[in-house]
Amino acid sequence: SVLDRINKVEEKVKAFVTVTGEQALEQAREIDEKRARGEAMSPLAGIPMAMKDNICTKGVTTTCASKILYNFVPPYNATVTEKLLEAGTILLGKCNMDEFAMGSSNENSGFFPTRNPHDLSAVPGGSSGGAAAAVAADEAVFTLGSDTGGSIRQPAAFCGVVGLKPTYGYVPRYGLIAYASSLDQIGPLTKDITDCALVLNVIAGHDPKDSTSAPVEVPDFTRYLVDDVKGLKIGIPKEYMGEGIDPRIAAYLKQAAAKLEELGAVCEEVSLPHTEYALPAYYIIASAEASSNLARYDGVRYGLRVEAEDVISMFCKTRSQGFGEEVKRRIMLGTYALSSGYYDAYYLKALKVRTLIKRDFDQAFLKYDCLLTPTSPTTAFKFGEKVNDPLAMYLSDVCTIPINLAGVPGLSLPFGTVEGLPVGIQFIGKPFGEGTLLRVGYALE
Ligand code: GLN
Repeated sequence: SVLDRINKVEEKVKAFVTVTGEQALEQAREIDEKRARGEAMSPLAGIPMAMKDNICTKGVTTTCASKILYNFVPPYNATVTEKLLEAGTILLGKCNMDEFAMGSSNENSGFFPTRNPHDLSAVPGGSSGGAAAAVAADEAVFTLGSDTGGSIRQPAAFCGVVGLKPTYGYVPRYGLIAYASSLDQIGPLTKDITDCALVLNVIAGHDPKDSTSAPVEVPDFTRYLVDDVKGLKIGIPKEYMGEGIDPRIAAYLKQAAAKLEELGAVCEEVSLPHTEYALPAYYIIASAEASSNLARYDGVRYGLRVEAEDVISMFCKTRSQGFGEEVKRRIMLGTYALSSGYYDAYYLKALKVRTLIKRDFDQAFLKYDCLLTPTSPTTAFKFGEKVNDPLAMYLSDVCTIPINLAGVPGLSLPFGTVEGLPVGIQFIGKPFGEGTLLRVGYALE
């Protein structure tokens, strides 16, 4: 029925780069047989899901929505893919995204843009726009996305679904094609908080194949699905409520705070004074790491190769034709920030700012169990509105980026609509404090 649904709406929504079709049905039949034999099954067995196209799937094309990887078929599964397949979920296909996860609207996809199922003239957000739209359009029960600066949460908000960026190191990144390795995290996009907890149960946990994976015990997240927020202290950072935030979104945030107070939580204003420096620091750090990570696409090892008279021209032609505008912009910015003479002034400075931002959060979490902010300053915008103005586009992640710089978890929860388009509110937690985020989300939804 999910494949039928894909056939029906995909022409309009365009959430998928690849649909597995027959392969998915084959997998489903195997699950049916196991069930018929009475084999023990995980709670997710038989659930159809999809993955952002930067998560490696053995034998299934993984393109990062880039022409440079248009034909790349991974010989191995990402750890999250492996875990989900072991749990019996069914891979329906791979979701569209901004090329190499750089963007906030899906307009940077090297293939075609995904549309917002709530309004086809609006963007689904990005970079996990396809993954969010697929869930919102009932083309998958859940999807996995990746979030470097907001790429799970902002599209979740724009498409009206739940999106979680876990604590850095909680979910293994082995097999996630790297954008900015110190910021990237994989996380679920789901219809509700219960599904989010169930998926997190499968994908979180230490992985010896990922050296940044945290060696911590993972609880059963469903135990946080209790309608009880009594005594929780929730901070509302004033820096996230000011200029640039749509007042109607700010009003919803106040409504959410009032409801939480009614349920017994305490909400107070708090300050995170270095917030305004997060965006510039992020774009230096993320571009620097991207320029290094993307050096491997040279026409030799993966994907596209444009033949040329000698090897240097082959590198140049392959990269010139294979990468899109935004990716090239990031590679140039990052290379510049890392070059000798500019390293101290830009890259090192950005790292120091990152520490200050992290300390703001450490300080706030001495007093508060979690923080509440908008997920994005606006609801989904129209195609073309920001595509020629990179700075305006970068601003749509202003509420989500600091969370990646600090490495803490963030959850976007749908909360009302403005002119028919979904609004998302964001809960930010202590490191490994996902349980608290699920608890407040569950109480509010
Ligand atoms: N929009 C931000 C960027 O372009 C965040 C992307 C992401 O989280 N992958 O870098």
